[in-house]
Amino acid sequence: MTVLRTFEEVRSMTEGSVGLVPTMGFLHEGHLRLIEASVAENDTTVVTVFVNPTQFGEQRDLSSYPRDLERDVGLAYGVGADIVLAPSVDYMYPDGASTTVAVAGAAEAMEGIHRPGHFDGVATVVARFFAGLAPDRAYFGRKDAQQLAVVSSMVRDLGFPLTVRSIPTVREMDGLALSSRNVRIEPRLRPSALRIWHGLMAGASLYESGVRSVPEVLATVSAPLDDDWKVEVEYIELADAMTARPAGHFAGMQFLAVAATVGHVRLIDNVVIDNEAGTVERGTLLSSRSILYGDS
Ligand code: AMP
Repeated sequence: MTVLRTFEEVRSMTEGSVGLVPTMGFLHEGHLRLIEASVAENDTTVVTVFVNPTQFGEQRDLSSYPRDLERDVGLAYGVGADIVLAPSVDYMYPDGASTTVAVAGAAEAMEGIHRPGHFDGVATVVARFFAGLAPDRAYFGRKDAQQLAVVSSMVRDLGFPLTVRSIPTVREMDGLALSSRNVRIEPRLRPSALRIWHGLMAGASLYESGVRSVPEVLATVSAPLDDDWKVEVEYIELADAMTARPAGHFAGMQFLAVAATVGHVRLIDNVVIDNEAGTVERGTLLSSRSILYGDS
């Protein structure tokens, strides 16, 4: 089970249609569902594992990001990936690299306010993967709904000849959205982290009961979070799924998003609202303990 380091090596091995699944590694079931979606639709699936330094604001978050390449490689090949590419930081950002991609619009609100520069880092590294690997399809999770909007905007605006695909959020058994960062949540703070899910579920239920007042729905999402002093909320917003702009009324495809810090761990989550159907996509819950936690 090999790990490749350069785009040239990958290109020499790909055949037919190429699906790309970009990740920062420490894979969980959310990543595996993305890989499976790509395997089902493409001749070759390339999984990238790269902890991209330019999308981290806080040095501490970058240095504490969980990493285990050997584990990732086994998991990725286990669900049918053909190639794992784990480039070095120097390869991705050679000396003298001076071009970045900045997406206006979709990158401005929510994460854009709380993590300045984050989406420039994301867009730049994703553009570099698109240019180097020329995939036919690229796979992203709706867990990062604003990131999905940013990448889709970039693909449209720069004319990358590929299709962006997305999958619903995969959640742990108790509802917490899977994130590699979950391994850093102290067990005693887990009930606090779960309040994000409780808030989103309460908001989703209120919406599905027919309430269409945005302030009322947002207040319902925020109530379980406000009750817990260990949860530091950064934002709770309703936003348009395509533009990621905050919305004052329910229309089209939207998402209800929360960002909060619990202990030292920053968590984001959302549910997707289809206003035409009047339904909310809550994501899928695992039926057993996540592979994130190993056998412990
Ligand atoms: P990351 O490794 O966290 O950068 O995520 C890599 C890809 O996996 C991104 O497209 C994420 O949106 C997606 N992803 C992360 N967590 C989940 C999840 N819980 N459910 C679905 N997709 C996810």
